[in-house]
Amino acid sequence: MFEKVLIANRGEIALRIQRACRELGIKTVAVHSEADREAKYVKLADESVCIGPAPSGQSYLHIPAVISAAEVTDAEAIHPGYGFLSENADFAERVENSGFVFIGPRPETIRLMGDKVSAKDAMKKAGVPCVPGSDGALSDDPDEILKTAKKIGYPVIIKAAGGGGGRGMRVVHTEAALLTSVEMTTAEAQAAFGNPTVYMEKFLEQPRHIEIQVLADEHGNAVYLGERDCSMQRRHQKVLEEAPAPGVDRKRIATVGERCAEACRTIGYRGAGTFEFLYENGEFYFIEMNTRVQVEHPVTEQVTGIDIVQAQLRVAAGEKMPFKQKDIHLRGHSIECRINAEDPHNFVPSPGRITGFHMPGGPGVRVDTHAYQNYMVPPNYDSMIGKLITYGDTREQAIARMRIALSEMVVEGIKTNIPLHIELMNDAAFHAGGTSIHYLENKLGIVSK
Ligand code: ADP
Repeated sequence: MFEKVLIANRGEIALRIQRACRELGIKTVAVHSEADREAKYVKLADESVCIGPAPSGQSYLHIPAVISAAEVTDAEAIHPGYGFLSENADFAERVENSGFVFIGPRPETIRLMGDKVSAKDAMKKAGVPCVPGSDGALSDDPDEILKTAKKIGYPVIIKAAGGGGGRGMRVVHTEAALLTSVEMTTAEAQAAFGNPTVYMEKFLEQPRHIEIQVLADEHGNAVYLGERDCSMQRRHQKVLEEAPAPGVDRKRIATVGERCAEACRTIGYRGAGTFEFLYENGEFYFIEMNTRVQVEHPVTEQVTGIDIVQAQLRVAAGEKMPFKQKDIHLRGHSIECRINAEDPHNFVPSPGRITGFHMPGGPGVRVDTHAYQNYMVPPNYDSMIGKLITYGDTREQAIARMRIALSEMVVEGIKTNIPLHIELMNDAAFHAGGTSIHYLENKLGIVSK
């Protein structure tokens, strides 16, 4: 096992990784921007290095600064967390070329999965079900484009191969709008992602977002850790996640999960990863793979009993996974509410000092947060200040515990989305389970684009 790991991230995930390292007896190096200098988790690390000013482009995204920090502290490996440099293949390559271990898949794998056209192609070959669409990148020939759309059937969605974060896609309802939409998406893709390649998919009208968590080691072993339902979204941003997905046939999950594990073996995947699917009328359709740990990983940890971050560390150190698929059993139900520093009605970020802070507890309650009384939420980063996770023997119990935990939770001095979560815990459709990705926006009266 490593002696010292550098955590190239901030906030709750930096603390989460630090805890996993400490439990394994690994020393930690926290890197931080000037805005995060006073954060408690930075002080809790064995060592800390300031890597630049508040803007992430000059700190958390500044590759030479992160690598120099690893050099001066003699760290052996770098954990990228999520966001920032976590899915940057060039960063992973620079880390490895500088003699450190990148805690994640090989750079080639990140590159393969980072391009959605090549990712979809690889998944199709591995027998993972995909959204019907163009065979790879869209051709330049207008007649071909029109023919492809006709074959798929309207509505279709034009997506950028290099897209991410819910950007670079456009829904097309009629043939008349097709060619201009393709042109516009191509131009936007070039401007935003430096890659003009676009592709076409059938636009699913009322899907759910269900994803499969995988873990793979360097010895050819790969397992899937069940699924998460992340359909409660606003502007393609997840708000609440749960495991397992309510009302989905377990046999179907097992089939798709096994395909995902097999795909990992085929592409030589290493570490933790997530296959994201849209789910409609009982069918799964692959949309993309995330080659890193995800915000919502705790719900899977709660129902499997597996520490995903520790597993990442072990696999990166070359260890063999200590479990096989037959050893993985899902038990109970878990829900995660993302707690954001934002106005619960108009979602405008609400950074500032937390003047009152009290976290809930009791059976089946987990709080992953780096915040505390007097913590200053900086305006420079994502507004998530923590995650409240509950576990129960049944979904009803997990919901009941969440409702109680939310009522106990106090965050004063800034606005948070706690009232929205309280509302969701009393929402009839959420109780019934299985709402689509548009449900929350419809409920909030937001017209989706
Ligand atoms: P990103 O990497 O930008 O998150 P994804 O491919 O994961 O892009 O898609 C993001 C979201 O866009 C999905 O969660 C879904 O809401 C919507 N979406 C993507 N593809 C389709 C599709 N074929 N049909 C309907 N909605 C889609």
